[in-house]
Amino acid sequence: MSKDYYNVLGVTKNSSEKEIKKAYRNLSKKYHPDLNPDNAQAEEKFKSVAEAYDVLSNPDKKKNYDMFGHAEGRRGNPFSNGGFDMGDIFNSFFGADDNPFNSGRRKKRVVRGTDIRINLKLTLEDVFNGIHKKIKYRRNDFCGTCEGTGGKSSMCQSCGGTGQITRISNTPFGRIQNTVLCPTCMGEGKIITDPCKKCTGNGVNLTEETVEFDIPTGVMEGENLIIKTKGNAIKGGLNGDLIINIIEIPHDTFTRKNQDIYQRIKLKYKDLVLGTPYELDTLDGKIRINIKEGTEIGHILRVPKKGITKDKYTGDMMVEVWLDIPKNIDEENKKIIQSLNI
Ligand SMILES: [Zn+2]
Ligand SMILES: [Zn+2]
Repeated sequence: MSKDYYNVLGVTKNSSEKEIKKAYRNLSKKYHPDLNPDNAQAEEKFKSVAEAYDVLSNPDKKKNYDMFGHAEGRRGNPFSNGGFDMGDIFNSFFGADDNPFNSGRRKKRVVRGTDIRINLKLTLEDVFNGIHKKIKYRRNDFCGTCEGTGGKSSMCQSCGGTGQITRISNTPFGRIQNTVLCPTCMGEGKIITDPCKKCTGNGVNLTEETVEFDIPTGVMEGENLIIKTKGNAIKGGLNGDLIINIIEIPHDTFTRKNQDIYQRIKLKYKDLVLGTPYELDTLDGKIRINIKEGTEIGHILRVPKKGITKDKYTGDMMVEVWLDIPKNIDEENKKIIQSLNI
């Protein structure tokens, strides 16, 4: 089932940040589990509202969502919000202290694997038509043998499993108590005593990964598509993301300016003077246009709706008319040209 985040919050694409926040605040109160005990429907709504706000309150996620939507339920959907965490949203909203999801949670340092960036070259035809892509690349994934733990471990004796140690130092200003990361276990709280043979204790292995996704029409050079959680895994942490960086391969005939396509055509002198029908190349095949009598060199013809479609708007094709100056003219044609007095 696909849900529209704007519908969920009862806002529109044009709503301001403030309006989105207000809508979220009202709805999250209305459906809050504390106010609706044992009400599964309210709980579902509450989750949807939080999920929608997570995306619409984040400019990058919102942009991605506006562009690609979310094809929920599609197997392996790369644009789904894989790393969604209810607690994080409430931290950003209520502040960590009065976050109802934090109660009983042990504070732990959250590590995250690195993002992987991949350049994806697209032809103008790909951008015009949209394209399904399958990419193979290598990333660190959790080790299946030790389930990402790195092997058998025992509690760190230095910190007693807390991952932190308290240091007391005497300074001219008095005794200062300082809590720092345990250097013995690097904050893990445990030490691997029998490292996994497959990953040598790293908890991750370099593996070949394949992702499939649809490139929508109209993507631009330099645009990034973010495929959540498909970056590097890290022991005890969250996956990084895969970032697809769009690169446009220059086209032999056409030049793109936003959603319009430009091309230059060369015509004979007589065709500019007298006018002619003309077979014009577009990204959609050939079409017939009319060159009007008396067309000037450098004139730009606009052919509507033959550009690139993005966000339900389709650009135009702009055709710059140029003169084809003949070379190596034979004697007979020279005489004809000489005889012209115009
Ligand atoms: Zn392992
Ligand atoms: Zn320790």
